[in-house]
Amino acid sequence: MREVIVIGAGPAGMLAAGTAAEKGAKVILLEKMEKPGRKLAITGKGRCNITNLKDWEYFSHHVHPVNRYFKPAFYHFTSEDTVKFFNDIGLPTVLERGTRVYPASQRSFDVIDALKSWLERLGVHMICSCQVLEFVTAQTPGAKAINDPGQSNGSHSADYPDQSSGINASAQITRANASANIHINDERTNFLRIRAVKVRNPRGEERLLTANHFILATGGKTYPGTGSTGDGYALASALGHTIEPLFPTLTALMPVDYDKRLEGVQLRNVGIELYTEEVLRRSEEGELYFTNLGIEGPIGFRVSRQAVVALNKGQRVSLHLNLKPALTREQLMARWEREEAKRIGGGRSNIAGVKGEQMQIKGSADDLSRRLKAYMPVALIDPFVSYLVQSGLHPVDAMLKWEFPIASYGDWARAVVTAGGISMKEVDVHTMRSKLVENLSFAGEILDLDADSGGYNLQIAFATGRLAGAGGGTSIPALT
Ligand SMILES: Cc1cc2nc3c(=O)[nH]c(=O)nc-3n(C[C@H](O)[C@H](O)[C@H](O)COP(=O)(O)OP(=O)(O)OC[C@H]3O[C@@H](n4cnc5c(N)ncnc54)[C@H](O)[C@@H]3O)c2cc1C
Repeated sequence: MREVIVIGAGPAGMLAAGTAAEKGAKVILLEKMEKPGRKLAITGKGRCNITNLKDWEYFSHHVHPVNRYFKPAFYHFTSEDTVKFFNDIGLPTVLERGTRVYPASQRSFDVIDALKSWLERLGVHMICSCQVLEFVTAQTPGAKAINDPGQSNGSHSADYPDQSSGINASAQITRANASANIHINDERTNFLRIRAVKVRNPRGEERLLTANHFILATGGKTYPGTGSTGDGYALASALGHTIEPLFPTLTALMPVDYDKRLEGVQLRNVGIELYTEEVLRRSEEGELYFTNLGIEGPIGFRVSRQAVVALNKGQRVSLHLNLKPALTREQLMARWEREEAKRIGGGRSNIAGVKGEQMQIKGSADDLSRRLKAYMPVALIDPFVSYLVQSGLHPVDAMLKWEFPIASYGDWARAVVTAGGISMKEVDVHTMRSKLVENLSFAGEILDLDADSGGYNLQIAFATGRLAGAGGGTSIPALT
């Protein structure tokens, strides 16, 4: 029987581990946190948007940077397959807003529990509080002592930690004496081959664990408190893999001279346009939130990837907020003037020149604020009036195009997803296997694949995990 070690018990690692076990492998799943799926627990504000049922034609527009790298995994395990999988393992699901799938209970913990039970039924041995520190190859000092199961009929070679340590693994564990990690191609295969992983076990001891095949699913770098601290990039890079530049995405955009009075305002049915170097790049409509980190919310996140890329290139970035995307300028101006005419009729006019392209605000700011209440939430009015004064724009024009030059973006601590990662050019996308290391596969956010919000990122994790665990299908002998 083949032995597989999966590193990282997030959604990608759990799918990979269970799938490899279904294929008959003896599987150990290593997780450095005390529990699996810590990030999964906070997805969808604790409700977990499991997947999105758009078919590939539409789904693919939400996958970055090169969606075709995800296509084989998606077709191997589609969004419909994800829903069926969860239903089959005992998690009922519901559909929201047409294509977004959530657990019927609206609890991400139920997703984790369903996956844990599935793994238990399949006999996957999960070891928590166990951090993988490095891959050991044939050339790692001390590695000669390790009996590589890939080259030795799968027999075990090492002393096992006892049950009291929380580990009763069936894979091989030896005392770690490896320090440096120097790699050359395995002389028998012309491929680099991993013999073991060095881990820090739950007792804080360093040990070696051997297996035939290894699946790296350590996730990205965002929300590091969940365990996703980017360890996998160093582990893979030490084996020669290229890491495409990492940057946070689905993240807040901080305006220049951010008006703190905006914090806490949540807007529905508004539009934004992303401009970089004064060129319109993307338009979105929906919900937008002003938080202590700047501009967030679904449509803020949707434009954040392109904004971060541009900011990293030193380009000028600005967001234009449209408070009335359903109306043309003519329609909004007609409404404004109708109401103004009523006010003049009532003898209470305090705004001069409303028909011009520019306007002067005269009279009491209170009167203007009262008037703006018909157009926007109260909390938005004072910052809006400040913008009017600063820009000299007519209120109608400012409502349709409130410009926010962007200074910076939210860092790893609060970004949702990591863009960049293991170069897809070095991964066989039909199997998720490394093209550089004979017995290594990848799954999930560690890969140079990311997506918009809406269930797309978890679909990437589930589908690549499923494919990696299957070894690319039943025809791949290493995992069967
Ligand atoms: C706030 C938030 C909300 C989100 N909501 C959604 C949503 O609703 N829908 C959606 O599609 N996506 C959502 N996402 C994105 C989604 O959670 C991730 O894309 C997904 O979790 C990636 O799965 P993964 O298994 O690749 O990595 P992770 O979930 O990050 O799991 C990696 C695991 O590896 C472990 N690990 C790391 N290093 C080591 C090591 N050295 N040794 C052992 N273990 C290690 C980590 O502890 C972690 O448990 C959200 C993300 C965030 C932060």
